[in-house]
Amino acid sequence: MSDTIFGKIVRREIPADIVYETDEVLAFRDLNPQAPVHVLFVPKRPIATLNEAGPADAELLGKLLLAAADYAKRQGFEKDGYRTVVNCNEHGGQTVFHLHVHLLAGRRMTWPPG
Ligand code: C5P
Repeated sequence: MSDTIFGKIVRREIPADIVYETDEVLAFRDLNPQAPVHVLFVPKRPIATLNEAGPADAELLGKLLLAAADYAKRQGFEKDGYRTVVNCNEHGGQTVFHLHVHLLAGRRMTWPPG
């Protein structure tokens, strides 16, 4: 699989504002935030898109979501709520091909998304 900017962040080859880390997950602030809080949760072991994820990745995908929820709770967004998003390929709006969960919080979100 080809490397991406998120792989470089995971390996600490380029800087990022890292806010959360476990053995398998790294989270850092989005450079172009779409909400007062916009953090990206990435698996350290790269998966390009949700299409490439299989049964062997089930636990890791669960850990990504749980990491986002844990961070959101720690930041005090449990009650007001927040949004998690995984974009896939062109129509989904994916631009970085290292699977990631967006965590957006700090304002009321609208639906449907654009
Ligand atoms: O879901 P998608 O692939 O479009 O999300 C990629 C996200 O990564 C964007 O929100 C973009 O702002 C962010 N990004 C970043 N730092 C980079 C490159 C992209 O935070 N160096």
